[in-house]
Amino acid sequence: MIRKLISRVFGRKTSGAAGDRAVISPSKHGIRRDQLSSGSRRTVETLQQHGYKAYVVGGAVRDLLAGIAPKDYDVATNATPEQVRQCFRRSRIIGRRFQIVHVLMGSETVEVTTFRGPHGDEGQPGRAHTDAHGRVLRDNVFGSEQDDAARRDFTVNALYFDPATETIVDYHHGVADLQQKTLRMIGDPKMRYREDPVRMLRAVRLAAKLGLTIDPEARRPIRELATLIENVPASRLFDEMLKLLTSGSAVKCVQQLREEGLHHGLLPLLDVILEQPLGERFVMLSLENTDRRVREGKPTSPGFLFATLLWHEVLAKWEAIKAAGERAIPALFLAMDEVLEVQSEKLAITRRIAGDIKDIWALQPRFEQRSGKRPYGVLEQPRFKAGYDFLLLRVASGEVEAELGEWWTNFLNGDAETRATLLLPPKPDETRKRRRRKRRAPASSAQAIPE
Ligand code: ATP
Ligand code: MG
Repeated sequence: MIRKLISRVFGRKTSGAAGDRAVISPSKHGIRRDQLSSGSRRTVETLQQHGYKAYVVGGAVRDLLAGIAPKDYDVATNATPEQVRQCFRRSRIIGRRFQIVHVLMGSETVEVTTFRGPHGDEGQPGRAHTDAHGRVLRDNVFGSEQDDAARRDFTVNALYFDPATETIVDYHHGVADLQQKTLRMIGDPKMRYREDPVRMLRAVRLAAKLGLTIDPEARRPIRELATLIENVPASRLFDEMLKLLTSGSAVKCVQQLREEGLHHGLLPLLDVILEQPLGERFVMLSLENTDRRVREGKPTSPGFLFATLLWHEVLAKWEAIKAAGERAIPALFLAMDEVLEVQSEKLAITRRIAGDIKDIWALQPRFEQRSGKRPYGVLEQPRFKAGYDFLLLRVASGEVEAELGEWWTNFLNGDAETRATLLLPPKPDETRKRRRRKRRAPASSAQAIPE
């Protein structure tokens, strides 16, 4: 009671930040229960049958309102994680610092979160802790439905859909903001960015994805507070940048990040994208290609994306190492390792993704070999398709001849006979090399035999 009073008096600067409960009828918002995934709907229904409050919340409601297919479904409830777990046989509690429950429904996993409360100030026992810049480090205080809405970042993300009544509970005029195409922060934007600087990136991503304008109040402080991003752990930044690049609006996001002053030195990944004049066309083509794939519902792999973002760095290193006298293929491998060593650490690229990137790069010189058995071997490579798509991007950017891409397209799609006729005669230098190797072989074995 006292805590509520204090938070009401001191906690929130902007008027009405706690929000008044508005219930919006289906005739006004247009979302129907059958638009939800069956898993999220059943999860909410089960919680309600057990006497708890439950809603589909956040991005899914926002996306449905905007006419976009939601990526995933989140459920918010007043049941504690332990109570949620008792309602579902196939469920488990995830996370220690911020506990949520994963409910498994068929092949779907629904994330269920207990309503969160205000996090209070540093040092208050049982409340959130912040770092020296105000970033919230711990955040596991339960609260009311109204508290939960106030803790979310943007008004369009604080919408609660109840499938039983098909109504939306809206504390912060999120439905109206979405209709007016405005991305508005809940509460005082400066304070909310200090609590979590990643919200600056989320603002850019969500505005680009949904075609919204960032409200001037929320936009203004970004330039001033941009450096707070430096305090965010690299792995979280990596996750957020990956979301941004695979949002289906990567090109728009990158342009907007640049406009908001959210790049130089703050986002190593973005520096990679923007600070390579030679590769800019290639990188932009790659982002356009990723956007198109996402919009067509095709899968995108982080490995492919990063392979394209870093390729021109590899090319430059490769040239330098070759110029110093190394042979082409070993030079490429040295260049790959050097680039990945520097970037993996900076960008927090995981080892698995680094492996995928290398596979794609290592295939590139092999596409040059179009005689004998070699092209058949390339087709068999597990990462062939990614390597081939990568080659086509190189063609599109003008780095390699269109003819090479066409040849591989024909070879890939051709039957056995077509493939055989496509094969090129071995290059004279290849024949010479093979002969030389043959000639050298007995000589070296002769050397090995003691006289
Ligand atoms: P998408 O799923 O399209 O990436 P989303 O808004 O659903 O976007 P999630 O990360 O799935 O993003 O988060 C679900 C909800 O949790 C959000 O809609 C928002 O209400 C809340 N949320 C997420 N991140 C934050 C944050 N940094 N600060 C405050 N609320 C957040
Ligand atoms: Mg989501």
